[in-house]
Amino acid sequence: MISRLSDLIWPPRSLLSDAIVDRPGVIEAELWSELRFLAEPQCACCGFPLPEGANPGDFCGACSARKPAYATARAALAYDDHARRLVLDLKRGGRRDGLPVFAKWMASAAADALAKADFVAPVPMHWTRLAVRSFNQAAWLAQGLARAGGKPWKPGALRRVKRRKSQAGLSASERRRNVGGAIKAWGRHEGKTILVVDDVFTTGATLEACARALRKAGAAEVHAVTLARVVRPIDISI
Ligand SMILES: [Zn+2]
Repeated sequence: MISRLSDLIWPPRSLLSDAIVDRPGVIEAELWSELRFLAEPQCACCGFPLPEGANPGDFCGACSARKPAYATARAALAYDDHARRLVLDLKRGGRRDGLPVFAKWMASAAADALAKADFVAPVPMHWTRLAVRSFNQAAWLAQGLARAGGKPWKPGALRRVKRRKSQAGLSASERRRNVGGAIKAWGRHEGKTILVVDDVFTTGATLEACARALRKAGAAEVHAVTLARVVRPIDISI
């Protein structure tokens, strides 16, 4: 209600600048053209961009060496300055007007996984963090995506049972250790295909922990989709 009231008082602003736009949740053309949408060729498993000429079904080096617990992970955008702004406005600012368009982008990035998913579930947040922040941006994204794909949304399918340290600055294996055992599935999900949603794919450790927990709870296949994905190792500091 308050956000709708504020729309009447303040004109809608672009998701990426202070420019006034004609309706909420849009981006002016010049900045839109700068967004880096991820597309083929990409790793058949984790979605990491592959060089031109790669074949569908090819894996990146990391997935060839060690197959993740999720079947596929896809992201709408490469994590650059624009994607970072979108993510931080959502995560720290609680800005919701971009959600319908983010849902459309993620639905297109993970179209195959969304089509076969029995339901969509967010990466969970520990309740103590939820109490401070009052919202889980992954749950918002998952809800929007479920709506866009006409699928059930199950915000309670996963629980965070341990509050972990921040992942910032940790290496891939340290992140796996940090998040390992912190996430549990709630109930059984026998034979289900599940699409797990988060805001950013950094090393994939959190999504892997979710996939492992859901598979332990009987899930047949777990897929993942995020709004953005780190495509350079240097971005690991987030
Ligand atoms: Zn990969």
